[in-house]
Amino acid sequence: MIAVVKSAPADGLAGTEIRDCPVPDPGPGEVLVRVAATAICGTDKHIYHWDPSIQDSVQPPRIYGHEFCGFVEKIGAGAERAFEGALQIGDYVSAEMHVICGECAQCRSGNGHICVRTRIYGLHEDGAFAEFVRVPASNIVKLPRYVPLRVGAFLDALGNAVHTTQVVDLAGKSVAVTGFGPIGAMSAAIAEHSGASVVIVTDVSDHALETARRWAATRGFENFHAFNVRTTPAAEVKKAIETITNGVGVDVVCEMSGSSAAINFGLEIVRMGGTLSLLGLPAGHSVTIEDYTRNVIFKGVTMHGIIGRRMYSTWQRMLALLRSGLDVEWVVQATFDSLHEFHEGIARFDRHEALKVVFFPEGEQNALRRAGFSPAGP
Ligand SMILES: [Zn+2]
Ligand SMILES: [Zn+2]
Repeated sequence: MIAVVKSAPADGLAGTEIRDCPVPDPGPGEVLVRVAATAICGTDKHIYHWDPSIQDSVQPPRIYGHEFCGFVEKIGAGAERAFEGALQIGDYVSAEMHVICGECAQCRSGNGHICVRTRIYGLHEDGAFAEFVRVPASNIVKLPRYVPLRVGAFLDALGNAVHTTQVVDLAGKSVAVTGFGPIGAMSAAIAEHSGASVVIVTDVSDHALETARRWAATRGFENFHAFNVRTTPAAEVKKAIETITNGVGVDVVCEMSGSSAAINFGLEIVRMGGTLSLLGLPAGHSVTIEDYTRNVIFKGVTMHGIIGRRMYSTWQRMLALLRSGLDVEWVVQATFDSLHEFHEGIARFDRHEALKVVFFPEGEQNALRRAGFSPAGP
């Protein structure tokens, strides 16, 4: 099978090879999935460029990629029993790629997303940038037909957005999303879909903000505001947000950028007793809070760190949101009908030309046909 392999500890072409690899065989409790669609995540970009942040987690050679959907190709011994209603060859599925121990204190208290022994397929084990991927049956999620292949391709990332937005009820709330990358974009979409009264987006790129405005316009969403926090002074943006929120501040901040400035800005604009849901990773681990006394303690804010997806309430909510019409397919802004174009796909992602880049290892039309979906338009 063709796979994208982190072949050497190096950046770019020198460290990633698209090459023929043996098709893995599912062991007991494992399932082999034929990959229909797979998407690039920020983590994959770090692996591609061999950034220091991931060097401890990836040991070349390693097939990477962890966002995908596909069809059950082969079922290992006992794996079909891991499922209510059984798992069958040809089933349309995705998978949670954080594989947990099931035994630590977190796992045993319903908090498997923070398992101390988490192994990530696509980092610590081989992943989904391939024609086939092997995963534990326990992590397989069967997909209903209302999930398009193009969305099934990145449920892991959508799950991050759902997790970020599921810590509070967003109905009627004012919500600020700091950082309009793929997960920020999906969080804004979830907020709008969930009945937020106002959605405010901040970013440092006019291109990203243009995409955000276009999205709001196509939804006819009028209570939408976007600010460039690089070209507009923070005090000015804060004043505008005060006006939008009737002097109260925003109820919920979804922080996606990891930038110190954005985190402090979030603490400035959040209302007394508001919530910050924090997903973005800072470049160098540390963040300095500028006015901890006033903005954290005296404000009585709640800060949630978001990692992965809750297993499996985030998946259940994600599917329920998609069923109720949540549209996130628009974040797919580049598709390729072969893994051979991986380097080009990463380049498009690097240049921020596409929020999500999706590969169809056997071509989109073939995958749609295999799924029994009607073929996509031109
Ligand atoms: Zn990811
Ligand atoms: Zn555990």
